[in-house]
Amino acid sequence: MRNKIVILGSGESGTGAALLAKHLGFDVLVSDTGTIKLPFKKELDAHGIAWEEHRHTLEAILNANEVIKSPGIPESSEVMRAVRAKGINVIGEIEFGYRYAGRCKIVAITGSNGKTTTTELTHHLLLTAGLQTRKGGNVGNSFARMVLEDLLNRRETDGQRIFVLEMSSFQLDDIQAFKPSIAILLNITPDHLDRYNYMLERYVQSKFRVTLNQQRGDKFIYNGFDPEVAAGMTTCKRTVPADDQNSLVSTRGSQIAIKKGFCKNGRIKVGKHDFDLTMSALRGPHNMFNAACAIRASLLLGAKAAKIQEGLNTFTPPQHRLEKVAVKAGVTWINDSKATNVDAVNYALQSMDTPTVWIVGGQDKGNDYTPLLPLVQQHVSAIVCMGLDNTTILRVFGALNKPIVETRSAQEAVQKAASLAHAGDTVLLSPACASFDLFKNYEDRGTQFREAVLALYTH
Ligand code: ADP
Repeated sequence: MRNKIVILGSGESGTGAALLAKHLGFDVLVSDTGTIKLPFKKELDAHGIAWEEHRHTLEAILNANEVIKSPGIPESSEVMRAVRAKGINVIGEIEFGYRYAGRCKIVAITGSNGKTTTTELTHHLLLTAGLQTRKGGNVGNSFARMVLEDLLNRRETDGQRIFVLEMSSFQLDDIQAFKPSIAILLNITPDHLDRYNYMLERYVQSKFRVTLNQQRGDKFIYNGFDPEVAAGMTTCKRTVPADDQNSLVSTRGSQIAIKKGFCKNGRIKVGKHDFDLTMSALRGPHNMFNAACAIRASLLLGAKAAKIQEGLNTFTPPQHRLEKVAVKAGVTWINDSKATNVDAVNYALQSMDTPTVWIVGGQDKGNDYTPLLPLVQQHVSAIVCMGLDNTTILRVFGALNKPIVETRSAQEAVQKAASLAHAGDTVLLSPACASFDLFKNYEDRGTQFREAVLALYTH
């Protein structure tokens, strides 16, 4: 009998795993309690892959030799409890892809903030250097889909293949043997704690799993200046030798000092090379740090410094992350809709060099805004709340005696901000909150903001 694989969840990771499993000859069932999105259904049908939606049929699922669990499905769900009780091996889609990736280099990038930017940048630097690379994971294509594409297109003459993977903590929870050649841990700030019993240590441990299986010769690049990462360095299990660990604030070794001021006049030093970021579209100190990580990884993979510099100059940062939308009537409009937590806003405000009208708010995950008070006092001239419930924001920032108004749509927020901003100012959408109260997702929020800005003064 063929090995039966059941895939729980039918998003990009479930569908990618299903396609790879089918290609490898497994008997595959995809099961989802929600509605499977049409493009995924079409793909599954086109490949003759069985699926069910709006239910988990336990008797079919418990018949599996192995279960591949999508990252969104918690261990506490009924189906997972039944699967665990039966003792079926459970892996994530990343682990499954890893089994069939063959001889390759993997760069795995994790952290609470900056994953997508650093993944995109690393990929871009490697491509510019002429290396053969694919990117994906938690963003864009799933790893399993990338592995399948690679299996189908691989040629004898191919050189070193490099996969650059963004990885969430949920994905790391479901790895077993997954071992990246280069692991990058950008930072750790409280996020998604509901999945970790509200215990920060468990979230930290989850992030450190990125280096769990690394051995001598693999590289672990981490932000030793981040307090949670520094704490994890003393408590989390690692097998990668000290020589192969690369703290970006270490005073020894490769010395990429990421402390405040490490980036002098837009230049950063990584190892013995100097890089100029003044021509780069990356803004803010956090992005200098992200760049340092991407540069370090690229150097380790053999990219030449001159090519890396060229890549830095030509990189277009992903949308909705400190993205300059327009300059209108002398006011610069910036879309940072992806800033869904306080730490990301902290960096956004630090990056502001003119008086700023700040658009903030949305679905609040229990934020503590107080760390932002000094930055808001220093950089912000007026506050535009954009959310259904703005109570906490009004209470915390109302005390600063700055103009503060409430709005309930992107259009209204943009209109209000335009009336509060003067020529030379910046308007920054950096919400610190999720978007689901008023928008479909952060992309929808950023897109509606951009459209409202572009429509300003056109009537
Ligand atoms: P992620 O994929 O981890 O969510 P993104 O690259 O999409 O990260 O960026 C999310 C938000 O975090 C954006 O607002 C961005 O400006 C901010 N950000 C990016 N890099 C960092 C960093 N190293 N530290 C803190 N915030 C960051």
